[in-house]
Amino acid sequence: MTTNLLNYDAKGLADFCTEIGEKPFRAKQLLRWIHQSGITDFVDMSDLAKGLREKLAVLAVIESPQIISDYVAADGTRKWLLSVGAGNGIETVFIPEANRGTLCVSSQVGCALACTFCSTGKQGFNRNLTVAEIIGQLWIANKTLKADPNDTLTDNDRVVSNVVMMGMGEPLANFDNVVMALDLMLDDHAYGLSRRRVTVSTSGLVPAMDRLRERCPVALAVSLHAPNDSLRDQLVPINKKYPIKELLAACQRYLTAAPRDFITFEYVMLDGVNDSVGHAHELINLVQDTPCKFNLIPFNSFPGSGFKRSSAEAVRIFRDVLMQAGLVTTVRKTRGDDIAAACGQLAGQVRDKTRRTAGGKVE
Ligand code: SAH
Ligand code: SF4
Repeated sequence: MTTNLLNYDAKGLADFCTEIGEKPFRAKQLLRWIHQSGITDFVDMSDLAKGLREKLAVLAVIESPQIISDYVAADGTRKWLLSVGAGNGIETVFIPEANRGTLCVSSQVGCALACTFCSTGKQGFNRNLTVAEIIGQLWIANKTLKADPNDTLTDNDRVVSNVVMMGMGEPLANFDNVVMALDLMLDDHAYGLSRRRVTVSTSGLVPAMDRLRERCPVALAVSLHAPNDSLRDQLVPINKKYPIKELLAACQRYLTAAPRDFITFEYVMLDGVNDSVGHAHELINLVQDTPCKFNLIPFNSFPGSGFKRSSAEAVRIFRDVLMQAGLVTTVRKTRGDDIAAACGQLAGQVRDKTRRTAGGKVE
């Protein structure tokens, strides 16, 4: 059986080199070839001895998920649907902006946490992604964006400078694989991204937030979405296990190690549900001791969601109330919604194993 080298971080690759009778420092060369050059054929790794290249060709492969489709939206947002086998597909989105390029990466096939306003949650859950499938999304994006001759943007604009773990799935529910993929994102021999430019978004898995703080503190976004437990219980069911008070305490602990001195709270704006001035005031009281910024996300609808997006006016008023209380608040621009690439619209192809959704296929 061959080993997929895309599954290894620097340490794993060094161990692999030792196992096959090579010096561990070869791992650094391999990392650069795999992740920076995007090469899949060992023959092309010109600074490795011929004997090693031949050995690798027998023992190893470099295998990313397969691209099923590749869409570009009117605003330049690009979405890939990637096959991860057995009829399952995941989505990855690239969002080009003037001064940065952000890749939105998936961590699971579906999601078991079933937030009521989320398309991924509605799809059910199949499995965690492997390290190769997570880092493979960045690998594919870099490779495709660099190679695309039709692209009108400059080289600089096309480089992925930021990663947000905000695609399909709950990253902290796939802790070990996500952390290994984060290691590769940060590794200078691989992608060399700054900790501040890599963001994990979580619906609030408190114990895993503590582990992330100890193991690999990157920027943290927390999906708050409600100012009190009774409403959050309905929108984000994991709140019943880790209620808001515990969540905020975990945020405080995270800040002691975080690369930024604030937590980003995401707040989806649902018409008539969580978007009143009263909710805004409740929120201000709630977070008064937590250094934070707010990111309001206008709800992106999908068939059968049962929610409506708050009006632009309601969003503006809500933002103004938070701002007047001194909370830095941005409204997320909806990007790529013509290709269903906006937040919460990623559905991929999930063969549901939870028997939760009527349409999902049970295996
Ligand atoms: N599971 C993680 C990360 C993926 S979702 C989390 O929940 O944080 C990324 C963000 O999109 C989260 O804040 C999520 O709550 C939000 N989101 C989900 N569905 C949405 C929708 N339909 N419209 C707008 N935002 C949505
Ligand atoms: Fe899962 Fe996040 Fe969607 Fe909730 S919002 S169902 S945690 S992906």
